[in-house]
Amino acid sequence: MLTPVKDILKMASDANTSVIAFNALDYNMVYAVTQAAEKVKKPLICMLYPEHHTLNNWANPESFAATVKSLASEVSVPVGLHLDHCTDFNYIMRAIKAGFSCVMYDGSMLSLEENIANTRKVADTAHAFDVAVEAELGHVGFAATVSDQTNLDLYTQPDIAAKFIEESTCDALAVAIGSAHGVYKETPHLDIKRLSEINAATDTPLVLHGGSGIPNDQLDEAFVNGINKFNVGTEFFQLYYDTIKDYGRINGDSGNIFDFPNYCQPILIDYLVKKLELSKF
Ligand SMILES: [Zn+2]
Repeated sequence: MLTPVKDILKMASDANTSVIAFNALDYNMVYAVTQAAEKVKKPLICMLYPEHHTLNNWANPESFAATVKSLASEVSVPVGLHLDHCTDFNYIMRAIKAGFSCVMYDGSMLSLEENIANTRKVADTAHAFDVAVEAELGHVGFAATVSDQTNLDLYTQPDIAAKFIEESTCDALAVAIGSAHGVYKETPHLDIKRLSEINAATDTPLVLHGGSGIPNDQLDEAFVNGINKFNVGTEFFQLYYDTIKDYGRINGDSGNIFDFPNYCQPILIDYLVKKLELSKF
């Protein structure tokens, strides 16, 4: 059941847990996501990362939204439609027009003043269409660069987070507390103390990016200390690639593309169901 992301974040906040937000590329991935949600009877969020469209030629916002809307309508649990990291105002407007109920404007590379001003501009427009806005403060860097994980200058500061939310009017805030995007070279150590301070200073759902490879005990702690949305991409993409690779290897020249969904979907769904155990709805 397609449900506004804002409502799903409220459910997560009320349950003192986090919804899991999965990046997806195509029908197979979205199908697996919606079926996994139905299997465990938990809400989740499906996300499009704009560069997968603009650079890699995967789904555009209109076709992605149509796929999520259609497949979400076949299940009884809430499924949200979210636009991941975007810096392009026009692209965000395109996604809103296509029916995304939440959009992320990422101004984390800008100065605090510019980040606030740009997020506010996106929020003013998005809110007029009843669309929620996720922003990022501090900077969640790339796991391949170990210093991005450990550089405290990039971490979110609690007092600045409160000011940022008030002035930008964002509805969810991605925080930098020691996670990073991509494949970790060293096990990350989330700064839970900082997270609980940010949580105490704000009333807004907090978001954790760079979710592939963080140990589960750290995630459990993060989820009861204010993280209400947890983004997972890298692991899911890698698994999807592995299914393609294995399918080709197993079937060789006698394989065909028609049977591929029946091969990959149970594998993807199994992974998603396990991941969803972290989400304590
Ligand atoms: Zn991210």
